[in-house]
Amino acid sequence: MDSSNKLALLKEIYKDCVLCPRRCHVDRTQGQLGYCRLPARITMDCALAHYGEEPPISGTRGAGTIFLSSCNLGCIYCQNYQISHCAGGQELDSPSLARVMLDLQKRGCHNIEPVTPTSQVPLIMESLLLAREQGLQIPFVYNCGGYEDPGIIKMLDKMVDIYLPDFKYGVAEDGADFSAVSDYPRYALDSLKEMVRQVGPDLALENEVAKRGIIIRHLVLPGKLENSRAVFRLIKKEISTSVAISLMSQYTPTVKVRSHPLLGRRITAQEYEDVLNYALDLGFENLFVQEVNDENLTPDFGSDKPFG
Ligand code: SF4
Repeated sequence: MDSSNKLALLKEIYKDCVLCPRRCHVDRTQGQLGYCRLPARITMDCALAHYGEEPPISGTRGAGTIFLSSCNLGCIYCQNYQISHCAGGQELDSPSLARVMLDLQKRGCHNIEPVTPTSQVPLIMESLLLAREQGLQIPFVYNCGGYEDPGIIKMLDKMVDIYLPDFKYGVAEDGADFSAVSDYPRYALDSLKEMVRQVGPDLALENEVAKRGIIIRHLVLPGKLENSRAVFRLIKKEISTSVAISLMSQYTPTVKVRSHPLLGRRITAQEYEDVLNYALDLGFENLFVQEVNDENLTPDFGSDKPFG
């Protein structure tokens, strides 16, 4: 099936929305809202050159990040909660978003990276195809929370160059507690397998900047080391130990969880080291690691420059 046929099928899904595993079955074209509360239009907060991603994604000139409104997960601790817990924002049509993509390319960004595309994927892909017709050449990065429908991911084959999914929960109960999903590991794993099938397990670089491949991200949560260990065991068992993993230490309690009994603190250097050593012992060697320090990397989307 060619890209335009896949696009037509994707757009039909807005009428009975099963774009993600929540499968709300609402008609978003008629104003019905599901869990993500998003309409059948593109809803965006801002687009900018982003220097805070992994080095091969940000490069020297920044990732071309398009921060979209809302998300299909709604994690209670989300570092981007100002936009991910809110369905408001600028409403755009596909030609307008295509212009945003072309402008990011003109500004020198290394790629186009919508975050989080899951609930808005039909019109994002329509915008991408329009932008490609108009000269967009840089890679397209699918940066998502990992709670994806593998059937939808399959429809993105040959349109996505780089996948940047989270694998948040190896322990299903943690997904239920923090993101109101009881089946996160199964959907994440099946989707990751499809992503790897499409782009391969390696990260292809040109001048140290990613052109194709996958990086799986995992954010270590305070006191949840078994969850992190389970993530690595599952990736080893079902995918590969050679896939690139970004092990993130930057968890910072937002105002929403400052009094949470578990999530109200940052992780310790010891917790991070325990998870890192566990991954190394399992045979993972393609790891992006972070320092554990007091630096606050939480963006402020109320400011003109969310990342300072
Ligand atoms: S994309 Fe939104 S409306 Fe559609 S199934 Fe997921 S949460 Fe529900």
